[in-house]
Amino acid sequence: MKFIPPGKTIGIVGAGQLGRMSAIAARQLGYRLAVFDQDAEAPTACIADHVVVAPLDDLDAARKFARLCDVVTFEFENIPADTLRGIQEITPVHPSPEILHTTRHRIREKNALTNIGVAVAPYASINEPADIHALLERFGPGIAKTCELGYDGKGQFRLSTQNAIPAELIRSIEQGTEFVFEQLVPFEHEISVIVARNDRGDIQTYEPFENVHTNHILDLTIWPASVSQQIQTTARSIATSIAERLDLVGLMCVEMFVKAQGELIVNELAPRPHNSGHITMDAAVTGQFEQHIRAVTGLPLGSTGRSLPAAMANLLGDLWFKNGKLTEPDFAAALSSDSRVKLHLYGKSSPRPGRKMGHLNATSDSTTSDSVTLNNVASDREMSPMDSVIEARKRL
Ligand code: AMP
Repeated sequence: MKFIPPGKTIGIVGAGQLGRMSAIAARQLGYRLAVFDQDAEAPTACIADHVVVAPLDDLDAARKFARLCDVVTFEFENIPADTLRGIQEITPVHPSPEILHTTRHRIREKNALTNIGVAVAPYASINEPADIHALLERFGPGIAKTCELGYDGKGQFRLSTQNAIPAELIRSIEQGTEFVFEQLVPFEHEISVIVARNDRGDIQTYEPFENVHTNHILDLTIWPASVSQQIQTTARSIATSIAERLDLVGLMCVEMFVKAQGELIVNELAPRPHNSGHITMDAAVTGQFEQHIRAVTGLPLGSTGRSLPAAMANLLGDLWFKNGKLTEPDFAAALSSDSRVKLHLYGKSSPRPGRKMGHLNATSDSTTSDSVTLNNVASDREMSPMDSVIEARKRL
């Protein structure tokens, strides 16, 4: 791969918050930015030197965008394959379109993980509604997930023999939507590992993050995860072997379930910066967005060392509505709750319930609260980072 030095132009397909934070990191490193998105008002647009506004399946626009860039990356998975191929004919794309092809489809992704030798929840494709009864017999309770385009729990249905099969699921299958049936995993923790790899094969992983979801959307991340050192090491080595086997160049998040005996089950992969890694912006030597830019440009990877225990709370659009009325949250009140709390807003002009508008990060004062857990154990002197972000969010 050609080394892309600062001063050159990085292209990002998709201009949402992940693109925006990648762009800010790229700017800090002295790169120029081009973005390709259908929305001229998207969060990354105001940070870029060039904005190509067109539907993502517009191949002429994709080529025009590619000609502006020395390297191209992306911030979300659902990019038409022809668009990425068109871009790749003109300029390098990292991570590769092949990785995206694998990870954007749950069955292809699980097949690839199985080939690598990584444990996933037992799964099978659902070809017709009648398959579901047999799958429940074979696997027990499970979840039907759309193979593509699902995020934040959208397109998912919990299934058990005790409950009727949802009519919406039956309709979707009959209309041709592909679904995978996944056995329900009884897990104790949800963790994620972010791995970065460059084309020289250098690899860095962050310590695992612990994630708490509410209504299928990431709510809180705590770092480090409250799992044993051995589980942390195994989780990092799983992420490393996936990155190597998929020949990753860039960043990838590996989401995992931790079962009672410490067994790790990989849930899904995202070959891009990830919401659970936002905590690294304030609590790691190198934040995930900078690491992403380093990996795709061929700069040496930065240290993933964690400076202090930390927590992150997402800010969803719901916080912009008080008694059903659109009301700007009180950001000053949130920041006055604890001077260690950091506010990150994505510059989105229209808040909607469930829409990710920003996040809060907090680090602890000292490493003495390394024992911070989900149960808020902290030293007598200070609030745990998790308490800090929760308290700050309440004040919004
Ligand atoms: P996903 O879209 O695959 O990340 O799933 C969203 C959330 O649903 C996960 O973060 C888990 O909390 C839960 N979930 C997904 N798959 C499973 C599974 N096989 N067993 C238990 N819980 C699951």
